[in-house]
Amino acid sequence: MSCALRDLPEGFMEDLTALLRIPTVAAWAGESMEAGAQWLAARLSRAGLAAQILAGPRGSAPYVYAETEQRGDRPTLLIYGHYDVQPARREDGWASDPFIPELRDGRLYARGTMDQKMNLLLPLFALEMMGGACGFNIKFFLEGEEEIFSPHLADALQLYGDLLTSDVCFSSDGWQAGPQTGDLRLGLRGFCGLEISLQGAEKELHSGTFGGVAPNPAAALVLLLSGLWTPSGKIAVPGFLDGVAAPSPAEVALASEGFDAAAWRQRAGLSPNQKLAVPEAEIPVALGLRPALEINALDAGGYAGGFRSVVPSRASARVSARLVPGQQPNAILAKLDDWLRENAPQGYDIRIETMPGTAQPYRLSADDPMQRLAAQVLTEVDGRAPRFTYSGGSIPLFGQIDELLGIKTIIFGFGLPDGNMHGVDEFIRLSDIRRGLAAWRALLSHPTLPR
Ligand SMILES: [Zn+2]
Repeated sequence: MSCALRDLPEGFMEDLTALLRIPTVAAWAGESMEAGAQWLAARLSRAGLAAQILAGPRGSAPYVYAETEQRGDRPTLLIYGHYDVQPARREDGWASDPFIPELRDGRLYARGTMDQKMNLLLPLFALEMMGGACGFNIKFFLEGEEEIFSPHLADALQLYGDLLTSDVCFSSDGWQAGPQTGDLRLGLRGFCGLEISLQGAEKELHSGTFGGVAPNPAAALVLLLSGLWTPSGKIAVPGFLDGVAAPSPAEVALASEGFDAAAWRQRAGLSPNQKLAVPEAEIPVALGLRPALEINALDAGGYAGGFRSVVPSRASARVSARLVPGQQPNAILAKLDDWLRENAPQGYDIRIETMPGTAQPYRLSADDPMQRLAAQVLTEVDGRAPRFTYSGGSIPLFGQIDELLGIKTIIFGFGLPDGNMHGVDEFIRLSDIRRGLAAWRALLSHPTLPR
């Protein structure tokens, strides 16, 4: 055993490896979801918590709930996480099987290492290492549908709300800015998405004998989608920006602090001269504080099968939006739906399906007492103060648990931004484990919690 492994708590790598081997891909929705939930419930029980599986509403992936002894004189901290992961296949380009963890050069590679199975185990091991010294009542609430935008979470929060009553929620899903630079999020964007299909002729047609005359849904869809933006790139859907306030100077200053455009370009794989939609100085503001509308995927004409001279019979696109305060996911979906139907060219059957999961935009003040506690803990562990940032991403729980149960969430996950979350060769460093354990132990042993 290398010395890097030796200073991890006993059993950590074995447990993490066992959990990573269960392919809990929410999008595949197989038996592995139940297996992953069972594994976690058993592991939480072994740590001395009262654990149970909570059935998912309408047959969805189960939730895992566990609690320590709940004492009236202690504040209650809810730990949120998700055991589902993004899809991954070796042939996507992974150097090793995504569901057989492999340790190479101080990094553990597997789907779900950083997002977020290491992060699920950190608070659990921290608790065990502290023995009885934890100053909080702890509750764990783990879901299996985060990567598909938690379509049943709002129902589950209502169903199990009594069990989840807490003073604050800490999300183990997250990451830090650098090896010694913490990152506390002051907000996340919301999310909603839809799929649009245009149908032309019943079947694909020969482009020589029918082309230029028969309706071409691929051409029609491209024309339609191009109208979602003005030629200068502004979102053109009427009402999309209603209720959106310009970011305040204080928000802009916080978002921009310490931002490194060159590092951002490098992480994105963008060369220094590739043109962006905004000036470089505005990148963090655009990502964290402004809404966005994207085409995520297009499909028509059987592209993968080689060049065929056909008029496609059908074309579809997935379009999604990231939202900021003032925008409601369902209202945005309705506006997009209206606009697409009104502007779709004549002569096509149009079908629009909204994605079942959405996320509300979320905000948390830097002055929130629990956010300040998190900042203090990260300062202790890293030896310097964390950054405060606005994340462009979305986690459905935060807005929902705030709205439904009045609980605020602090994002307290580990791993670094280069960990290939959702991508090929996702990994964590062993140093992420040590740092995360130190931070969770410091957090859970903190004597006071402003209630
Ligand atoms: Zn994720």
